[in-house]
Amino acid sequence: MSKKITIAIDGFSSTGKSTLAKQLAKQLGYIYVDTGAMYRAVALYAMQNDFIKPDFFDKVGLVNNLSSIKLEFKFNSDLGFAEMYLNGTNVEKAIRTIEVSGYVSKVAEVSEVRAKLVEQQQEMGKNKGIVMDGRDIGTVVLPDAELKIFMTASAATRAQRRFDELVQKGDSVSYDEVLKNVEERDYIDTHREDSPLVMAEDAVEIDNSYLTREEQFQAVLDLVNAIIETN
Ligand code: C5P
Repeated sequence: MSKKITIAIDGFSSTGKSTLAKQLAKQLGYIYVDTGAMYRAVALYAMQNDFIKPDFFDKVGLVNNLSSIKLEFKFNSDLGFAEMYLNGTNVEKAIRTIEVSGYVSKVAEVSEVRAKLVEQQQEMGKNKGIVMDGRDIGTVVLPDAELKIFMTASAATRAQRRFDELVQKGDSVSYDEVLKNVEERDYIDTHREDSPLVMAEDAVEIDNSYLTREEQFQAVLDLVNAIIETN
């Protein structure tokens, strides 16, 4: 059996990180960890408990209740990936709404939230054979990953992809609303004090504005195979 490595995928919102990560995990027989789902689940918890509302965020209240938040991934063999559970409830669908997207970056700015999630992510990343995606995986969570990918694409391309995805799921959103959300999250994610979104020095940058999913997947698979062969 070939040697297993750790793959960290970071990048801007809606660059297709999770699609690529899932493809790689399936092909290589690796475990996929979607760290964005964890931040989304904490944002959902904050919404459900009235810690966050339009123009209101009780950070102290959320931080004081962090110990009541239990996050788990449970593998769904029909879907072929692990779904997010918040305190025992499957929230995989509930965390993908535009409302959660509107709050999640504010919740992800809170250092206490990051510390709790990073600890859990590092525990999951202890063993090789993992593909983890997020914003700070190559820089903070798994700095020793053998392969780091940093994904970019124009904001308009990303918004169009996310808009198509939401419409297909039956959400009634406008393209402008999605574009605004993508741009707002980019801004908060790159400007926050704790673990801002930056490309790790040793990451490979992929701008997929003009790449098909298949071309991108093949390019990254070639990188993985080259690393496995030389290790
Ligand atoms: O990847 P996804 O778009 O689902 O992530 C949702 C949000 O969670 C991001 O916009 C970012 O604010 C936050 N996040 C983060 N660090 C990660 C993963 C996600 O701050 N490692």
